[in-house]
Amino acid sequence: MSSTPLPFTSAIGSRAELRADCSNCFALCCTALGFSRSADFAEDKAVGAPCRHLGSDHSCTVHDSLRSRGFRGCTVFDCFGAGQAVSQRLFGGVGWCDRPDTRQSMFAAFTTVKLLHEMLWYLAEVGERTYDSNHVDEARSLTNMITALTASGPEEVLAADVESLHSTVRVLLMDFSEEIRSRYFAEGDHQDARLTPGADLAEIDLRGLPLCGADLRGACLIAADLRHCDLTGVDLLGADLRDARVEGADFSGALFLTQSQVNSAQGDERTRLPAEIGRPRHWNAK
Ligand code: SF4
Repeated sequence: MSSTPLPFTSAIGSRAELRADCSNCFALCCTALGFSRSADFAEDKAVGAPCRHLGSDHSCTVHDSLRSRGFRGCTVFDCFGAGQAVSQRLFGGVGWCDRPDTRQSMFAAFTTVKLLHEMLWYLAEVGERTYDSNHVDEARSLTNMITALTASGPEEVLAADVESLHSTVRVLLMDFSEEIRSRYFAEGDHQDARLTPGADLAEIDLRGLPLCGADLRGACLIAADLRHCDLTGVDLLGADLRDARVEGADFSGALFLTQSQVNSAQGDERTRLPAEIGRPRHWNAK
């Protein structure tokens, strides 16, 4: 019998509930957010203005050809379920078309709830994977606080001190990351000196390096070569994985991975992902 303790797997929150449900959203990402013309978005779009490709039923009229038309960013974006939460819960299922007077507050609330839901996503992971009862308690308390806030009302959401909440959550995420990553190193182990938080690893070939347990929080991994790498226990909070080669890589035990990061990378059917993260449709289209 193994002497290794099991993680608490405490049901603090469900990451499944933080997946976007566009069918219950008033296309808030296609209206509330602004975009500048770039490699990710083929044209300028002002904040609060509906995208010109938005249909009257809130669906995207160019959905099936987004990448070929230069709207790659739309296939990468993920709202952590903020769209449906704002549309249905905060505004009672009445859209900005029917109630133009709510438009501004709905769009502002979307931006804030997206940040809050992102925190809930990470806190749920702490609850699922920590071995430390203090981390469970802190994650539960913060989750309850944020959940209550998102269930309150638009005014309360807009008045929330998100920055201070974010600072508190951040401390817990760093402690949890340390807890998990420390399991991968024995004293005296040496890791490649380039594997540090915020490292610029753009276009670097990382194949063959022992990555497990590395802290790559905020690292730039644009177009890095991670093919067939094992990223178990690697902290990827905020890491930029755009165009990273991840075919055959194992992300199933990576820390703080998001759908948006995965969507932005180049993987295939061999890439292993956590159960809560879907395989991007465009990976099959190559
Ligand atoms: S191109 Fe489509 S998905 Fe992208 S913002 Fe416009 S309507 Fe939305």
